[in-house]
Amino acid sequence: MEEQRNFETDAIRAQAERTDFREHSVPLYLTSSFVFDDAEQARALFADEVPGNIYTRFSNPNNTEFIQKLCLLEGAEDGIATASGMAAMYCSMAALLKAGDHVLASRSVFGSTHQILNVLFPRFNMSHTYVDLNDPASWESKIQPNTKMIFVETPSNPALDIIDLEWLGKLANKHQLILNVDNCFATPYLQNPAKWGAHIVTHSATKFIDGQGRVIGGAIVGKKDLIKEIRFFARHTGPSMSPFNAWVLSKSLETLAIRMEKHSENALTIAKYLERHPKVEYVKYPFLTSHPQHGIAKKQMRLGGGIVSFEVKGGIDAGRNFLNKLKMVSHSANLGDTRTIATHPASTTHSKLTDVERAAVGITPGLIRISAGLENVEDIVKDIEQALV
Ligand SMILES: *Cc1c(COP(=O)(O)O)cnc(C)c1O
Repeated sequence: MEEQRNFETDAIRAQAERTDFREHSVPLYLTSSFVFDDAEQARALFADEVPGNIYTRFSNPNNTEFIQKLCLLEGAEDGIATASGMAAMYCSMAALLKAGDHVLASRSVFGSTHQILNVLFPRFNMSHTYVDLNDPASWESKIQPNTKMIFVETPSNPALDIIDLEWLGKLANKHQLILNVDNCFATPYLQNPAKWGAHIVTHSATKFIDGQGRVIGGAIVGKKDLIKEIRFFARHTGPSMSPFNAWVLSKSLETLAIRMEKHSENALTIAKYLERHPKVEYVKYPFLTSHPQHGIAKKQMRLGGGIVSFEVKGGIDAGRNFLNKLKMVSHSANLGDTRTIATHPASTTHSKLTDVERAAVGITPGLIRISAGLENVEDIVKDIEQALV
């Protein structure tokens, strides 16, 4: 039994077994298939009697290294890597649900997750009810006899609402529901939903896990028996992560802790600056004492994360004006990059929602989402300052 190691150490030292070449850093295994020593080994591998690689759609040393490391960091039993965050969201639901089933989902989920629940699942007779993160008292009454899963994002995008995962874990277990948490905003360094009772934890690795705006990827980790079903679904439907992306993302995990420390530090500085600015209506950041669920954030998150949301006074025009004036900060729809990014959700990521739907998920017309990068924070604040004039 290995002794307990800390997060940063596991993120660096949990690596694939060394080959005969005695490499220090893990090589990239670009091979679509693997050879069998003999007929008996081939039979045993296909019968799942022994572990090992057969075909890269099923597994590959780079994918295995990435996902095993992520499991360790999330405190999860098993997992699979997927081609994108959306492949993770889709497989984690589609593999475990069937016609007639119902999902209880937090209203403020990622745009494409909305499309899965609103448009795609109804084709297969699967239904959902949206509930509000800041109204947990209403959740239990929305559970139906055919409810099978609770799906939430916390903190939510872009309003940064937070739900008490310990409370939610208990609610899920009381009703024997699968709790599936999209942990993309927090990353395993800031929050481990499995510790609070989540059965499945999903990720878009494209965001902070890569952290450098290079590759698309996703992951599903959680309880062994559930992952077994998801692995079957993924193996036969094919949303596997490319070995190259797995190789990049495994390296990315090596620096996740130090990056999330800095993202969070910069975001807090930006949030505090904005809170005092006369042109700013309000600021949302989990680790500001003004955040409505600040206490819960402190309980379940190590730090506040890299995302800050704020409302510019003057509505939609003021929001657009701010973005057009930025000189260094990038105007992009992505988040979780070394570069600071500003987004105007009402006209981009959440433009397909109606005004009423946007209001229900806390997106006001002048809301700006800042993904704090790793530049010197003085330079980031200076750019924000000149754009707010
Ligand atoms: C980006 C994102 C996704 C989708 O991930 P992709 O890698 O773009 O497919 C899912 N959930 C959240 C919270 C995200 O931010």
